[in-house]
Amino acid sequence: MTGLSFASHCRFTNGCVKVPRCWKGRQVRILVIEDEPRILGFLARGLEAEGFSVLGARDGQEGLRMAEALRFDLVILDLLLPRLDGLSVLRALDANQPDLPVVIVSARADLATKLNGFGLGARDYLTKPFSFDELLARVRVHLRRPVGREDGHVLRAGALALDLARRQAQLGDRLVDLSDREFKLLHHLLEYAGEVVSRERLLSEVWGYHFDPGSNVVDVCIRRLRKKLGPDSPIETVRHAGYRLTAA
Ligand code: CA
Repeated sequence: MTGLSFASHCRFTNGCVKVPRCWKGRQVRILVIEDEPRILGFLARGLEAEGFSVLGARDGQEGLRMAEALRFDLVILDLLLPRLDGLSVLRALDANQPDLPVVIVSARADLATKLNGFGLGARDYLTKPFSFDELLARVRVHLRRPVGREDGHVLRAGALALDLARRQAQLGDRLVDLSDREFKLLHHLLEYAGEVVSRERLLSEVWGYHFDPGSNVVDVCIRRLRKKLGPDSPIETVRHAGYRLTAA
């Protein structure tokens, strides 16, 4: 999609959403598709206060265009929308980005609509009015879901696949045998693909250490893993924070 600028986002969000000029670093990106300016503003402010990057769309067509042009981690979708209704947006998103979590927020409380939404791939459904805290809790749950898809005994994120039975990784044509520790470390990063995982958490989860902040075993193991995975290794260092496995 060309011609989609952040300036145009500002226009269709009608000034009620503080739109970042560019995505800030690696913040989690949420698209809110909602035609009611008051609700859109309320959601955007609340989510931004929690550290998310938020863009808003005021109709279904614009929302779908943005979702397809920009990479989002999650979509909050109203159903009764001008130009293209929410279920049609959902259908299109499910066809093109089946891994993108969509949380429906709608005044429609009937079971048939809810089941229809879930049938079209929605991860969650909240009936208006809802509490922001509940929405936030649900958003966090869906963001925590592994970006890596598990199909059979293989966990995947982007071009990386981890065979859980053989304890073997594959990146492109490269097949990599892993030590027990390397396997556990990569498994953990894959489960949280796209998120920053701190050294402390890796130490605790993979090594079972809780009191050794000075240890460099994590960094050493990461180095070994990167070497094995080669120049296209998806493991990134996030300064002063930890490591992240890119999910793309
Ligand atoms: Ca609406």
